[in-house]
Amino acid sequence: MLVILDGDGTLWSGDVLAGYLTTPLHQIDENTIVDHQGKKICLKEEAREVLEKLHEKNIFVALASQNRKLPVIALLRRLQLTPYFNFLEVSWTEKDEMIQNILEIFEKKGRDPGKIFFVDDFAYNLEIVEASPGLSHVICINASELDSLKDLLDIVGTQTE
Ligand SMILES: [Mg+2]
Repeated sequence: MLVILDGDGTLWSGDVLAGYLTTPLHQIDENTIVDHQGKKICLKEEAREVLEKLHEKNIFVALASQNRKLPVIALLRRLQLTPYFNFLEVSWTEKDEMIQNILEIFEKKGRDPGKIFFVDDFAYNLEIVEASPGLSHVICINASELDSLKDLLDIVGTQTE
């Protein structure tokens, strides 16, 4: 199983998109980061727990974020989230192409990712993935329609049986 997660608005939210954070970043508390200009980003309440649970279940986890890469990497490091991600797709590429890139890595290694979930809060991103002929097997979840990010564990969990 592979869960591909968007960053801004899905895993975290704040004053700026993560790609526009100015380094150095400072950690205020476990889930809050402030950048050089005083802009804040907060990890969503259940995000860390969800990432931990997915990791425990040996589910592959990818970040697919349309952003400048270096500030996003700095944010993940500062929040100590890097170990939870098997793949980091951070660029200005469209989400369907990011997912294709991740799936190509599996193909090259001759591995089957199993069921694939894509979670994003922006309808356009979900639509382009749903419309992509090569990605019809990807299960799209609108993060903005979830009451809590933890609901994701139930959705993913029921799919394993
Ligand atoms: Mg988003």
